[in-house]
Amino acid sequence: MSNPHINKGLSILTDDVACARQLNARNVRVLSTDGDRGRGVFSARDFLPGEIVIIGLIDRMERRRTTNSFQLDWNVHALFQKPAVIVNHSCEPNLAIVPNRFGAYDFVAIEHISSGVEVTWDYATSEFECIGVSVCLCSSANCRGTAGGFSKLPRDHPTLVSGFYAPYLNQTWTSSEKR
Ligand SMILES: [Zn+2]
Repeated sequence: MSNPHINKGLSILTDDVACARQLNARNVRVLSTDGDRGRGVFSARDFLPGEIVIIGLIDRMERRRTTNSFQLDWNVHALFQKPAVIVNHSCEPNLAIVPNRFGAYDFVAIEHISSGVEVTWDYATSEFECIGVSVCLCSSANCRGTAGGFSKLPRDHPTLVSGFYAPYLNQTWTSSEKR
């Protein structure tokens, strides 16, 4: 026998996922980048700081970190659906991640983003260790040369000062025991 309350909840969540996909399709386009970075995600309209640009949705959980996975907590990694999984790393990103109701991350503008601009986030803001970017191609003025991961950021790094990183990293992130 099915529980009508659970079924109702599931259908609302399904609608919610469909809405999220529609919003993502309106907000961004997946295009090829100039240069060596393959595909990237580009804004399809202007965004003000604080606006959600991409709603992250989980494709599947991963047993361990992969080059494309997102770290959600200590020892918790997931592959996100497109377009989130395609967003490139930058050491000076225009997006920050914020946990969302789907158990994933939303990607929020942290500066004014004009239409047609590539949107990027700093992989070190979710990954304690990062294996996705060995040599960084972001070409920003403050490029670290490699995405490294949160554990490699200097204490005075703007990301640490601004607090634009996954909440789990707040918890005794200096412990070398944790991955
Ligand atoms: Zn860089």
